[in-house]
Amino acid sequence: MSNIEKIVIVGAGLAGARAAEALRKDGFDGAITLLGEEPERPYIRPPLSKDYLRGASEREAVYVHPVGYYEDQRIDLRPSTRVRAIETSTRNVILHDGAAVPFDRLLIATGAEPRRLPVEGASLAGVHPVRTLADADAVRAAAAEAEHIVVIGLGWIGSEVAASLRSLGRDVVLIGPEAVPLERVLGPDIGGVYRDLHRERGVELRAGEQVQRILGTGRVEAVETSTGERIAADLVVVGIGARPRTELAVVSGLAVGDGIEVDASLETSVPGIFAAGDVASAWHPFYEQRLRSEHWANAKFQGSAAARSMLGSTTAFDRIPYFYSDQYDLGMEYRGHGSASDRVVVRGTLADRAFVAFWLRDGRVVAGMNANIWEVGKPVERLILIRQHLFEIGERLVPNRP
Ligand SMILES: Cc1cc2nc3c(=O)[nH]c(=O)nc-3n(C[C@H](O)[C@H](O)[C@H](O)COP(=O)(O)OP(=O)(O)OC[C@H]3O[C@@H](n4cnc5c(N)ncnc54)[C@H](O)[C@@H]3O)c2cc1C
Repeated sequence: MSNIEKIVIVGAGLAGARAAEALRKDGFDGAITLLGEEPERPYIRPPLSKDYLRGASEREAVYVHPVGYYEDQRIDLRPSTRVRAIETSTRNVILHDGAAVPFDRLLIATGAEPRRLPVEGASLAGVHPVRTLADADAVRAAAAEAEHIVVIGLGWIGSEVAASLRSLGRDVVLIGPEAVPLERVLGPDIGGVYRDLHRERGVELRAGEQVQRILGTGRVEAVETSTGERIAADLVVVGIGARPRTELAVVSGLAVGDGIEVDASLETSVPGIFAAGDVASAWHPFYEQRLRSEHWANAKFQGSAAARSMLGSTTAFDRIPYFYSDQYDLGMEYRGHGSASDRVVVRGTLADRAFVAFWLRDGRVVAGMNANIWEVGKPVERLILIRQHLFEIGERLVPNRP
């Protein structure tokens, strides 16, 4: 560790903040510079589509660390500071104003950004993404005034935003091309649980429909679907996925595929430069493939794992992926890495909205989801780790109800 004096972290989100914290916890005494283009100190994003959007939690609750933490820890946090280049040969990052910041080790934790809807009218006033605190504040303020809200996208963000705004009593149309919400991650049957839930709560769900364009003079007035139908809208929220912010890595010549490619210790193709969080496409020793995970737990744990790697540890990052979602009174946790071609078996009944589902590849558990059933995370993870075969999944875990 003695020859490492300066560590720079680009991206002051969850992964960056956890990396800085872990560096100090692990005894690194040198200079830590944490550079973030947002004006905020690091915060977590899950509440932005849930309790924070509903006004049910305080702003202070979203921050990763309390005010004063970075100063106390001698972490040079620089908000509103965009990094525009990485000079791998001289080992400097170049800031938006041209200033150079030298590094011995560098962590890229630049996260992801929302995909833009590729249709006419997508940049009209009243059309919002939800990625940043500022986005959530804008949607919250607009929703308080709006009469007709259209949420575009049947993935996690679209579904959660629709649930939150509907829970506030707003009229919400939720629209997307898939047959059911969350179909791509959870498949048609479990996605059907979310379809029924949204409909039951009064969301006008338009599954299987595409948005053709957004209409309005100066600001949004309607959304036109592929059938030509026009849906009145004075607020449109777009949640159609995110793309990793790899631009710095690309211009610096780092290996980039679906994210910045890193090995199991999170080091990029350039020695001494690491990547973590949403932006990293990391070799996963258990699944024996690259995984890029856009989830809170991955950012949190990869951030601290990258810190240890920067200090010389060669431990592989092999945590089983994890995420959660809350919509109305349905909470869920998902562990592992399933795919659309896996077979899904359910313990419990979907209609009760209390079940555990397993994704099976070649008969073996690769992922598990518990919905409104709690305290089963450890056993589910264990079934994945031991590559449990279907016929051995014990009825003890969750009894199969008729
Ligand atoms: C609305 C919402 C709800 C979510 N809900 C859940 C959930 O329920 N469960 C779950 O598991 N996950 C959830 N997620 C995903 C989770 O928040 C992300 O996986 C996590 O934020 C990733 O952290 P990160 O640090 O990798 O990236 P980010 O949080 O994106 O942080 C990266 C930071 O780097 C900055 N940056 C980028 N480029 C530069 C540059 N050149 N110079 C300086 N700074 C730069 C960005 O501005 C950003 O602040 C949600 C995400 C969103 C948006």
